[in-house]
Amino acid sequence: MSDKPAQAPPSRRAAGDHPSTAVLTRGFDPHLSVGSARPAVFRSSTYVFSSPESAERAFAIVTGREEPAPGETPELIYSRFNHPNAEILEDQIVPLEEGSEWAVVFNSGMAAIMTALMSRLAPGDAIVHTVPLYGGTQHLMHKLLEPWGVVCRPVVSGRGQELDEAIRTTPRLKFVLIETPANPTMAMTDIKRATLTAAQVDPRPIVMVDNTFLGPAFQHPMTLGADLIVYSATKYLGGFSDLLAGVVLGADPELERPIRALRGLFGNILQPDECWILDGRLPTVSLRMNRQSKNAQRIAEALVRRPEIRKVYYPTLFDDPEQIRIRLAQTDYPGAMIAFDLHGGKPAAFEFLRALKLAHNAVSLGGMETLVCHPKSTTHSGNTPEEHAIAGITDGLVRISVGVEDWRDLLRDFEQALDTVQAFVTA
Ligand SMILES: *Cc1c(COP(=O)(O)O)cnc(C)c1O
Repeated sequence: MSDKPAQAPPSRRAAGDHPSTAVLTRGFDPHLSVGSARPAVFRSSTYVFSSPESAERAFAIVTGREEPAPGETPELIYSRFNHPNAEILEDQIVPLEEGSEWAVVFNSGMAAIMTALMSRLAPGDAIVHTVPLYGGTQHLMHKLLEPWGVVCRPVVSGRGQELDEAIRTTPRLKFVLIETPANPTMAMTDIKRATLTAAQVDPRPIVMVDNTFLGPAFQHPMTLGADLIVYSATKYLGGFSDLLAGVVLGADPELERPIRALRGLFGNILQPDECWILDGRLPTVSLRMNRQSKNAQRIAEALVRRPEIRKVYYPTLFDDPEQIRIRLAQTDYPGAMIAFDLHGGKPAAFEFLRALKLAHNAVSLGGMETLVCHPKSTTHSGNTPEEHAIAGITDGLVRISVGVEDWRDLLRDFEQALDTVQAFVTA
């Protein structure tokens, strides 16, 4: 059995449903969960076939030897390939990402990124990517892809001309991987410009965007021409810092098939319980992100006045005209990540962290609770000194993921912690 009916009742599929409606109405038929208003959790590892012929057909389809007929729903086989809770989650996540047609869910963001890349790379192929990248993605390139003969060519975030140049001149280019805004300084890369440049290259490389920081609420890469979008759903999609998950989304079914097939081999599909939990978080992603972004903007714009801070990094505080142009063109709201550089370097940053009373000193982001970390000694500690310099990761840099608490309480907490590092200003 499958929880995805071949033909959903028309009332559940009204054309033109907005994302906040569609996320609650599609992908789930209560009649397949004994009438339950919320999906059941199907924890079974294996599925009973209705006949040996349907088993044969399901295997032919899952291995790619045969194509499903229009409207055909192949029977489920074994949960490493697929299971109802993954199908429900995948159907419900699609309307949140404007322009996407399919989603594939994974047991972490890293699993999603690795599987998407490996689905099309062979030794000798190349990736052009923005830097800084998420530390795990950077490590994946250095520890696995490069030793296997994949060329990884970095371009500093926001340098549009250098990115164009790299896309045009890199032989056997298979992927352009863009992480925007960049972590932690929020430097933005023009997605549309990169997709237009990629379209001029033959064969055309796949433009893949890590949309973890601003998606799905505030940045819509598919509408700008991206081919694949990856998420660490551990962050805003999950929203409560209590699960690990990843998603790849796209529109072209030719891109989906090898990713799904490789997920079946790697065994990195998201487990049924996690799918069910994440599913319940989707309807509130936009509500949470809007609140978090409003909180962050108020806090960031108030912190600018503090003498202990050398510079605040936040999209509404950009001063470079090109960065301002990209922000206005491709993002709806500035998001909930703030970074700032303290006078007094590492001792000041550590003292600030120690003095916090409400916000926690932790890595990760996107949760309901406010988290603060020191990137140079934690999330970005694997980078070289040159990479730190290029990315603006100084000894005094602190990164904040703003939660949904009352912003006035958070600001007061940051201000009292800044009071404790006043001595560093003149030092
Ligand atoms: C956290 C993160 C990842 C990795 O996701 P996991 O769920 O931790 O595997 C990838 N990219 C970005 C931008 C992230 O913040």
